[in-house]
Amino acid sequence: MRHGRMVRAARLPYLDKMHLGDALSSQAKAARQAPTVSFEFFPPKTEAGWAPLFRTVSDFTDLAPAFVSVTYGAGGTTRDKTHALVLRIRRETPLQPVPHLTCIGHTRDDIRRILELYAANEVETILALRGDPPTGARFHSLGDFQHAADLVRFIRVEGARLGVHGGRGFAIGVAGFPEGHPETPNTLHQLDHLKAKVDAGADYIVTQLFFDNHAFHDWRERCALAHIRVPIIAGIMPIPSITGLQRMADLAAGTRFPAALLAQLAAAGTDARAVEDAGIRWAEAQCRDLVAHDVDGMHFYTLNKSDATKRVCRSIGFPCARSSLNVKV
Ligand code: FAD
Repeated sequence: MRHGRMVRAARLPYLDKMHLGDALSSQAKAARQAPTVSFEFFPPKTEAGWAPLFRTVSDFTDLAPAFVSVTYGAGGTTRDKTHALVLRIRRETPLQPVPHLTCIGHTRDDIRRILELYAANEVETILALRGDPPTGARFHSLGDFQHAADLVRFIRVEGARLGVHGGRGFAIGVAGFPEGHPETPNTLHQLDHLKAKVDAGADYIVTQLFFDNHAFHDWRERCALAHIRVPIIAGIMPIPSITGLQRMADLAAGTRFPAALLAQLAAAGTDARAVEDAGIRWAEAQCRDLVAHDVDGMHFYTLNKSDATKRVCRSIGFPCARSSLNVKV
């Protein structure tokens, strides 16, 4: 894999050395007077995919994201690519990379080694996830951690041991599911499980993508009632195509597709450009509504492309002076 020139870029000044939990805090938000934006990527599938992906990632720098995150797949090869992409973003861009880390299939020693790699390279935030077992696999054979909360606890202790953030440990994000998680039909239990991740030491929550803001608003209120006080970042995906929509319906099982959205996509028919425009318009409307409801942040599932997400961000006023530099908390 070619990594090009190794240069250490200056960090975005408002984030340099800042614990992401602090950068996302309510005080930081008040100083910024705006929610954060952040962007998600997955590692390239082929060798030839590295250069265009890296250009796409770098292309987001002017939006001053709070962080960019990199997904972690089930297969061993993909996992190494996650580490490689994260380290490359760290070394060669001013962006703050956040690796996703799933505990399924990993031992404590595996996770310890990965955390050591990140700590040694000043990667100081982790999105801690359970991941999904391969179809047909049995849970108890799938590693040393049963739930994401166990991983959060472990990362907390290891981060302090490794001296990350001066001994405070890694900043830790966890996943939230405004429309429910397929394995836990009882939504009261599900909120308990989310609370357990926060109590174990999570600093913020990033949600599964959703298209129905009412579900998000209601779930956020329920989180508040459950005394979940950490920042909640809303997951947004501009629908790229009908095929993309169908893949999402599989991957993000349980996500609702409001009738009004489906009607707009149907009106676009087989015109791919019109479908994409409809997806962007829907995401723009979602984001405007989220900003009006004082959301903490918006996390974009970019599908490794910049155009649609950048159009949405610009239309809601990002990058904006208020969201940018020199936030003191
Ligand atoms: P957990 O919090 O462990 O929850 C999993 C299920 O177990 C839930 O139904 C929960 O209610 C239940 N549960 C939790 N604790 C208990 C308990 N004590 N007793 C009984 N039940 C319990 N997957 C990847 O493979 N790679 C990625 O990079 C990735 N990135 C993601 C990013 C985001 C923002 C999101 C929202 C999801 C991502 N996923 C990723 C998918 C995620 O790994 C799956 O959705 C997984 O099924 C749930 O992960 P979790 O971390 O929420 O697990």
